[in-house]
Amino acid sequence: MPPADQAGLRRANLALVVRTLREHGQQSRAQLSALSGLSKATVSNLVSELESRRLVRAAGLTAGRQGRPGQLVELSPGSVCGIGLEINLEYLRATVLDLAGTVITEQLVPLRVVELGPQRCLDQLAELARSMLATVAAVGAWPAGITVAVPGLVDTQAGVVRFAPNLRWRQIALVDGLAARVDFPLERCAVDNDANLAALAEHTSGAASGTADLLCIVGSSGVGAGLLAAGVPVRGASGFAGEVGHLSLDPLGPSCPCGNRGCWERQIDLGTLLEVMSSPDDPVRDPSLAVSDRLRIIRGRAEAGDRRTLDALQQVGDALGVGLALLINVLNPAAVVLGGYFAELYEWLVEHARIQIASRVLSPEAARAAILPSTLGFTAAIRGGAQHAMRTVMDNPTLAPVVASEPTEAPA
Ligand SMILES: [Zn+2]
Repeated sequence: MPPADQAGLRRANLALVVRTLREHGQQSRAQLSALSGLSKATVSNLVSELESRRLVRAAGLTAGRQGRPGQLVELSPGSVCGIGLEINLEYLRATVLDLAGTVITEQLVPLRVVELGPQRCLDQLAELARSMLATVAAVGAWPAGITVAVPGLVDTQAGVVRFAPNLRWRQIALVDGLAARVDFPLERCAVDNDANLAALAEHTSGAASGTADLLCIVGSSGVGAGLLAAGVPVRGASGFAGEVGHLSLDPLGPSCPCGNRGCWERQIDLGTLLEVMSSPDDPVRDPSLAVSDRLRIIRGRAEAGDRRTLDALQQVGDALGVGLALLINVLNPAAVVLGGYFAELYEWLVEHARIQIASRVLSPEAARAAILPSTLGFTAAIRGGAQHAMRTVMDNPTLAPVVASEPTEAPA
């Protein structure tokens, strides 16, 4: 076998051991051998290398079995971290997760992204990334990567934001710009659509954890969708699938920054809810309010039974259901996770949406798709970003630096 193929096989086997430990928790080398189908000698050798890269660690002895007790190994949670960043219309957000999915830190920076423009926004994003990298260093971990969530069409291969209508961005080389500013390796820096990353987080650790056919709809200053079919993200031929917010549902409706009219998101995004439920001078529309404060006011009014607020929530809930019915007819998901602000106001939206879905979806089985509130809320995209960043190393553990003694060079 040529050396290049041997190296590739070894990388694949290292990834297989990591994946097996992720799925099954701590195991002895003999158990890992049985679960992975690799020989015991190979497993021992691979585990040694993973230990030297601090990806796995010793975890006590097997108990309650006959014969000599075996040494257990497990993923070493605090040694590797992923960094997730998010660019939104009104803020930048960041998180650091470790291998076990524990949140090490989270940060929100209010920012008028459109007014700032892409290059100055990237300066701010780089500052936030440096602060996250400092946190990773402070806990003694290694940063696997940085993945940025953006509301728009993203060329993930090139690391370029092709078009983000709400940000007014076109052709922004985000990965190049960020990696250069932070002096971080280009190959461990990535950008993806925010709803795709939110769907990854919901699938990995959220409301629909493990659901293979999943639709995730995120409501914010726009509306995005991430879709998994049979556990695999659906990206389409050019990687731009999921732009459901710009389904033109009303050709005579209001104009949208994308250039179209009557887009679904102009019926259901947070700005629309605010316009319907309040007058321009209403304090709930104060531009200096954080999204969380705005939502607290809306919830308060809904709980108090304020008629105008409840009517606005019904209007948005109905429009949400009309669009969801269309998507359920096309995609037949097992579950729909409502993320972003839809999760915060779920109880006032979901019944209106369900009525529309029940009357518009053709198959009664498809119409029974679970409509769930996100448990990750506005943090889903950054969580997905951090998980995506760690996945690069999960798929190729040789990216993690060797910090202990060199591994022995036995064939895989
Ligand atoms: Zn549009």
